[in-house]
Amino acid sequence: MMDVPLLTSMIVKHAVAWHGDVEVVTHRVEGDMHRYTYADAYRRMCRLANALRRLGIRQGERVGTMAWTTYRHFELYFAVGGSGAVIHTVNPRLFHEQIVYIVNHAQDRVMFLDTTWVKMMEKLQDQCPTVERFIILCDSGHMPETTLRNAVCYEDLLDAEDETFDWPRMDEKSAAALCYTSGTTGNPKGVLYTHRAMVLHSMAACSGDHPLGLDSRTVILPAVSMFHVHAWGAPYAAPMCGAKLVLPGPHMHGDNIYRLLEEEKVTLTAGVPTIWLDMLTHMKKTGGRLNHLKIMNIGGSAPPLSMIKAFEEDYGVPVVHAWGMTELSPVGTTGRLRLRHQNLPREERYRVKQTQGRPIFGVEVKIVDDDGNRLPHDGEAVGQMFVRGPWVAAAYFEDEGATRAAFDKDGWFGTGDVASISPDGLVRISDRSKDLIKSGGEWISSIDLENYALAHPGVAEAAAIAIKHPKWEERPLLVVVPRPGAKVTADGIRAVLAEHVAKWWLPDDIVFVEDIPHTATGKISKKDLRARFQDYRWPEAAGFVE
Ligand code: AMP
Repeated sequence: MMDVPLLTSMIVKHAVAWHGDVEVVTHRVEGDMHRYTYADAYRRMCRLANALRRLGIRQGERVGTMAWTTYRHFELYFAVGGSGAVIHTVNPRLFHEQIVYIVNHAQDRVMFLDTTWVKMMEKLQDQCPTVERFIILCDSGHMPETTLRNAVCYEDLLDAEDETFDWPRMDEKSAAALCYTSGTTGNPKGVLYTHRAMVLHSMAACSGDHPLGLDSRTVILPAVSMFHVHAWGAPYAAPMCGAKLVLPGPHMHGDNIYRLLEEEKVTLTAGVPTIWLDMLTHMKKTGGRLNHLKIMNIGGSAPPLSMIKAFEEDYGVPVVHAWGMTELSPVGTTGRLRLRHQNLPREERYRVKQTQGRPIFGVEVKIVDDDGNRLPHDGEAVGQMFVRGPWVAAAYFEDEGATRAAFDKDGWFGTGDVASISPDGLVRISDRSKDLIKSGGEWISSIDLENYALAHPGVAEAAAIAIKHPKWEERPLLVVVPRPGAKVTADGIRAVLAEHVAKWWLPDDIVFVEDIPHTATGKISKKDLRARFQDYRWPEAAGFVE
């Protein structure tokens, strides 16, 4: 067979040759709608790749982006990777110290950013000395006044370049992209994706049983940010099969997403439960129907049964539940029903849909006990879930400590999820061993919350746990043992925390107890603490702070 390296440039070359007329539609940061075709996108990718050359970006060097789900970010995905550099998609929701850390760790040489984050980066730029130049994703009419270093307007940059580019033939194992994921404590960890992994992951996404299962008849709206593991791979996979791509930009509220689904006749969408809850509320209020949607993909957190039922029974749209991780590019399992599950009685079918589904081809899964022994797939045994496969990370980017902690002696990656597997192959995640709380798709480190709470002189011991929340899936509850005789209030602790963490990290409730359970080795036993608070209900006022 021919030795053809799997490169992301193959994807767009195919799209322009055979699906050049297919549309990419964006609800822009500027507020209006933008539409063009894969052929238009390709020409601009060539211009951008030429611009990167002119800026002196060499193979393997990192190009940062801080950008919404838009056509310009789509162009960056392919132009940066295809020209040999590495696109580092910075998550702007991280707090400032983390952003500074990852930009420095990645050594981003330039950064492309939406106008949304110009003010923020003006404050942080002095702490990011590797970034030589900031390129603002807008045209000259929208170019803001800015003190950003060597600021350039994106459209001006493209205008100066040629519309053809000779995409280099590289080793398929060279890096195309870089994302960071939150650690349990301390610094975020980088996952460096190869071209090969991206192409294979996209090919999987264009196969029938994959949660996305794209083809040339699909109109896909990824309701996921392109700074969250490549919007689950959709922008790489859609041009591979000529699916129409609908990008929501920063307009991620339920009403905006609903309007796009209807106006653009979207057949498949994917996002975290928080977004879908928002959209369900909107549709209930306005009497909206889903006239075109054929598949509703939900992942990132487990959707509640009521949500699955609402989409299926009230709106006639089948839900496909999926599980994945940054370290898996990200898709690992699929909730597409097998033949034997399709004909089950309704309630049993829902039970299947509540599981995380079965591994897709390319992802091997095992569950093990504390000594690393494999556990049976009997639906009863619960253990740590490990994975391996061609789009699973083999290490963290330049982080030996994190790498040592995450991989077993045979090279399997420990997901930090705790699961059982049923005899018919359904993975059910029942817990998380990593000490993180997932709120609306973003991570909160319980360990960081605890450490900062301990800075309050009246706190003897503190433990943060995730409690289910009707809107944000999970929110932090802080359990505190006060020092004897100390005067300590919830507001006092919150004030201390607020000095260190983003507002949306603050615990929604702080409860005072006499003791916190410990394990035999003296660590706080989160498992026992969670059990103790299993009947806990949020006070009425609990809510998310924007
Ligand atoms: P991230 O790397 O930020 O995408 O987060 C990955 C983690 O999110 C997984 O390890 C799980 O803990 C959680 N997760 C993702 N999808 C699901 C799901 N369908 N059900 C439950 N947890 C999920």
